[in-house]
Amino acid sequence: MFDAIDNGARQAMERTIQALLNLPQLEYFVIDRDRTIREISVGVLRFGDLPEEVQIGRDARSPFPELVGLEEVLDDLLERRRTSFVLKGIARFADDTSMFYIDLYFLPKILASETRNGQIIVLVRDSTERMATEQEFGQIAKEYSMTLIALESAKNYIDRVFHAMKDALFVVTATGRIVTINNAAKDLFGYEESALLLQPITKIVLDERLSQAIETREKLPETGVSGEFRCRTQPGEIRQFEFSCATLQQEDTIDAFVCIGRDITQRKRLETQLQQQSQRDRLLGHMMQRIRQSLSLAEILNTTVDEVQQCMGYDRALVVRVENGRSLCGCVEAVASGYESMLTGDRDLQAGQDRCLVGGTGELTLDVPMAIADVASSEQLDESCRQILQQAKVRSQLVVPIFSNAQTSILDRGEVSNASIQLWGLLAVQVCRDARLWEEWEIELLQRLSEQVSIAIEQAQLYGQLQAANRKLEQLASLDELTQLFNRRHFNEVFDREWRRMARERQPLSLILCDIDEFKKYNDAYGHVAGDACLEQVAEVLRGCLRRGGDLAARYGGEEFAIILPNTELSGAVDVVQSIRDRLAARNLPHPASQVKARVTLSLGIASWVPSASSSAEELLKAADWALYQAKVRGRDRYCIYPYRKWKTPTERS
Ligand code: GH3
Ligand code: MG
Ligand code: MG
Repeated sequence: MFDAIDNGARQAMERTIQALLNLPQLEYFVIDRDRTIREISVGVLRFGDLPEEVQIGRDARSPFPELVGLEEVLDDLLERRRTSFVLKGIARFADDTSMFYIDLYFLPKILASETRNGQIIVLVRDSTERMATEQEFGQIAKEYSMTLIALESAKNYIDRVFHAMKDALFVVTATGRIVTINNAAKDLFGYEESALLLQPITKIVLDERLSQAIETREKLPETGVSGEFRCRTQPGEIRQFEFSCATLQQEDTIDAFVCIGRDITQRKRLETQLQQQSQRDRLLGHMMQRIRQSLSLAEILNTTVDEVQQCMGYDRALVVRVENGRSLCGCVEAVASGYESMLTGDRDLQAGQDRCLVGGTGELTLDVPMAIADVASSEQLDESCRQILQQAKVRSQLVVPIFSNAQTSILDRGEVSNASIQLWGLLAVQVCRDARLWEEWEIELLQRLSEQVSIAIEQAQLYGQLQAANRKLEQLASLDELTQLFNRRHFNEVFDREWRRMARERQPLSLILCDIDEFKKYNDAYGHVAGDACLEQVAEVLRGCLRRGGDLAARYGGEEFAIILPNTELSGAVDVVQSIRDRLAARNLPHPASQVKARVTLSLGIASWVPSASSSAEELLKAADWALYQAKVRGRDRYCIYPYRKWKTPTERS
């Protein structure tokens, strides 16, 4: 085998070995076939596991136990079947704490003085530094692979986030083509990924602002572009998206855009609904404010139809009063100019029209709103109603009921009674220009308005009843309970008022005062109850003698009465007095105790003149009283007239 190595090679190997042996870190020992140490370098001792055993003649396996088990390799080297063998990274303890490493290079010893008695040279090198470097590289490699794992998992993480997002995410190239989409984008837009990849973004975002923003990217601020955009999904539905786009920038060039879009269709719809709702609330509020301004029923109904017709832009609005299944007179209507009235001169619906408001069912009862989009084709109307409405040029009609608390009234105790709710009437609106659908909000608005109108109607009715009750109360307060003539308080009011009115009109005012003669004796004779009855009889006579609406008879006190005669001259007053005397005489009420006559008689005083600034109402009263006194003193059962021009003060008179 050795012969197989040519001389040139052997020389080269020898040179190498020599060169190696001359390296400072390199030590060696030589062993023979028996593993006995034959040669050692000076510094090799420190590399032995047991340094003291590194001696010539000793078994090399004792200081270098690594040789144990290498028998076959060593034999191969000795037999030249192998040219070298290396054991690397053998650990040695320098002391108890520090370690170092050695490498063993096994070479057959080939020297000039080669003998058949083969030997092996074992080169020993301190490889601690290299090991440290290797370990360091190992560490770096380990860290590097961990970073790779981390990067991989980070990518997975981002992918998961990317696909778990509820918002649609698109990565769009600088030329506006889609290069990446997430799951949400597929779901929201209803496309397969393949159908969108490399497609222009305008395929889904209809609003050109987004694609324009992408095209004119250099003008964009770095933050990108965001806003609300109209988009189209695969099924062709138009939806509103809020997109927020950011540029993916490397150095100065924009690589792509990341656009994240949220479907805000529902939100927008709600916003619009809310806006419309508040507009309608304001409209309703405005109409109701106008309607509620009055407490008069007629005014309320007129304002209702005016407001509904004008604010809602209908061609006709009607309020129809309903009772026992038929419409009543007193309907109100507002009609846009150019259209005819539906009402007759009595403000009742024209013949047959009332049935048309409830679809021809006969009875005017309605508990749901009736919305007819197209009169010509509506199945809610019978044939005759269709014809009547078409003749009146009505194309669409909406009717809502107006309910009321049927017997709302003020009871004697002043409480309000609420009986059952029933149909009070109908609020109908009509459109003549063209047939139209009635929207839900519109029907609801009219229903709400009708509810408010019914409250206003109720209030007007209660107010009317209250006014009537007040009038009655006032009347009660101004009447004398026994005679049912006006009392003195009311007399004073009317007398003052008539005085001023006659002064303004320069018309004469006459006043008659009268007193039952010897009434004390009547009471004494017949008792107070009969006396009261007598007073009632006399009152009746007085009442019967009044001729004009403005004339007024009052019980002035006890058995004294007063009569106001506006626009009446003295002669007229005398006529009234004569008639009183005649009628009383005709009644012939017996008064046997009277010194005057055997029947009840009266003494009367008359004063009459045109009121002016130079006299007062009080003076007229005193004048009549003076005349009455004259009648008494002159024998009773007569009348006296106050002589206007000879007026004297009462003090003078007494
Ligand atoms: P003269 O002819 O002067 O008027 O005499 P006279 O008795 O009528 O007048 P006098 O003033 O002396 O008496 C009035 C009487 O009228 C006294 C009173 O008892 C009676 N009287 C006043 N008010 C009522 C009443 O409401 N009912 C009854 N039954 N009597 C009344
Ligand atoms: Mg008297
Ligand atoms: Mg009297």
